[in-house]
Amino acid sequence: MTGVNIGILSIQGDVAENVSATRMAMDELGIEGVVSEVKNPEQISDLDGLVIPGGESTVIGTLSLVSGSLKKIKEKIASGMPVLGTCAGMILLSKKAKDRVVGEMEQPLLDHLDVKIERNAFGRQKDSFEADLSLEKIGISKFRGVFIRAPSVIDIGKDVEVLSRFNEKIVAIKQGNVIGTSFHPELTADLAVHKYFVTLVQKKN
Ligand code: GLN
Repeated sequence: MTGVNIGILSIQGDVAENVSATRMAMDELGIEGVVSEVKNPEQISDLDGLVIPGGESTVIGTLSLVSGSLKKIKEKIASGMPVLGTCAGMILLSKKAKDRVVGEMEQPLLDHLDVKIERNAFGRQKDSFEADLSLEKIGISKFRGVFIRAPSVIDIGKDVEVLSRFNEKIVAIKQGNVIGTSFHPELTADLAVHKYFVTLVQKKN
């Protein structure tokens, strides 16, 4: 196949928005390839890059565990495949997560990003908000972040780069080829984060 093969994990959450943001980012950059919804381990095996959407991390994690996709994604990350996790996606990529109100709880995670996440760190659905952010380290000086029941990153290991903070809280990180954001870049018209991600996939390819 010519071009890159990027999958959007389509178990639950804002899958369609990520398909279209990824497709548009590739088109604007002239990167050839396929963007498809993926669910099962066989589809994930063939990918050059994966986006894990926002949604509900316990649902996405539990269903991926049952289908065997969680294990397959872990293997692909270990082999260097770039992944973008937005909101619930970032939670899933992490080693540890606790809920701001409920505290520690068991949920299946990909155990990759060396961070501890506080889920719902900014409050409930009614506390959703937008804010201007900057992600200078990846060349994005201004980005409108959409936060919906958003997590924050509370502990980071030495291999994790902080890409952005809002009100002292860490809201975007990168470890190797894996990027996590507390906010939803797929819900704004600005494609900068998805463009950075698809460029990473192309370079790795
Ligand atoms: N609060 C959700 C969770 O913990 C994430 C919210 C989102 O992805 N917008 O999974």
